[in-house]
Amino acid sequence: MLMRSFFLYLARSRTARKILMRLPGAQRVARRFVAGETLAQGIQAVRALNAKGLLATLDHLGENVVTEMDAARATQDYLDLLNAIAESGVNSNVSLKLTQLGLDISFALCLNNMRCILERALEYGNFVRIDMESSAYTEQTLRLYRALRNEHGFRNVGVVIQAYLFRSEADVRALAAEGANIRLCKGAYKEPPHIAFPQKRAVDANFIKLAEYYLSPEARERGAYIGVATHDDNMINAVKTYAAAQGIPKDGFEFQMLYGVRSQAQLALASEGYKVRVYVPYGTEWYPYFMRRLAERPANVWFIMRNFFRN
Ligand SMILES: Cc1cc2nc3c(=O)[nH]c(=O)nc-3n(C[C@H](O)[C@H](O)[C@H](O)COP(=O)(O)OP(=O)(O)OC[C@H]3O[C@@H](n4cnc5c(N)ncnc54)[C@H](O)[C@@H]3O)c2cc1C
Repeated sequence: MLMRSFFLYLARSRTARKILMRLPGAQRVARRFVAGETLAQGIQAVRALNAKGLLATLDHLGENVVTEMDAARATQDYLDLLNAIAESGVNSNVSLKLTQLGLDISFALCLNNMRCILERALEYGNFVRIDMESSAYTEQTLRLYRALRNEHGFRNVGVVIQAYLFRSEADVRALAAEGANIRLCKGAYKEPPHIAFPQKRAVDANFIKLAEYYLSPEARERGAYIGVATHDDNMINAVKTYAAAQGIPKDGFEFQMLYGVRSQAQLALASEGYKVRVYVPYGTEWYPYFMRRLAERPANVWFIMRNFFRN
């Protein structure tokens, strides 16, 4: 718990970021979880995953931009990414963060940038997932998602729900009634105990409850679709059992995992006939993403330290 808090603190600290990113070999070490710094490396990683029967979602790393110019640049990067996916023929959709597209600057600016990206995605028949950031953004993220869907008519967009938040049960019910495509994850940020379950056991129980609700006949009749994003065998087995009992075909939902995490488990699920999508991040802004991965699993810290000193 202490370790998790420490790494989540490092993820937010600008000073730590400056120091740690400059360490010789830091970039190489981050490659454990990041496909590379360039778009070409991202596409190459997806091609290799596709060859093994895995789907992908590409994330051009970045978050919390503070100028309109940076938000415009990030938007252009996503347009380039969608072009590259289409040109290369790889099987991948995209994932992005709203603070990367200017949500900290203005809702309207961010909405506009999202519209450009969704229009381009639509031309290619592609899909855009809005990642969920800390609870400071939950309400705005859902509002922006609904504006895109209801006011602007986009159907090729989905959101993420975090099982650690108390509010998520109500959000899941509302999204299911709207026939939304969601990714369900446990949640990767540091949240206070008055809004989020502090204990892993409670988060896990809520994850299973929300996943089962989203797979229930009531939700599926509305067109609701779920990406079950976890590396946890208990969550995966619970979902498999529930889906089988409901007679849901194996391609009626999908499992999602992160690049570089439990790669063997990804292949095993795919070989059982499940849809498996790997989240593939690339780009130079890998620092906060990398720190959140270390926060999730102390064993990764020792793995990284060993590699760091060995080289
Ligand atoms: C595809 C995908 C997209 C995500 N998108 C978001 C998002 O938009 N917003 C958000 O807040 N969070 C997101 N997350 C992160 C998520 O919220 C969790 O922090 C993360 O997945 C760890 O939780 P877990 O379900 O894997 O279970 P945990 O209880 O953390 O771990 C269960 C087991 O999984 C394995 N494991 C877990 N993490 C790691 C790791 N880093 N390295 C190696 N093994 C590991 C270990 O065996 C561990 O015992 C995403 C996760 C995935 C897989």
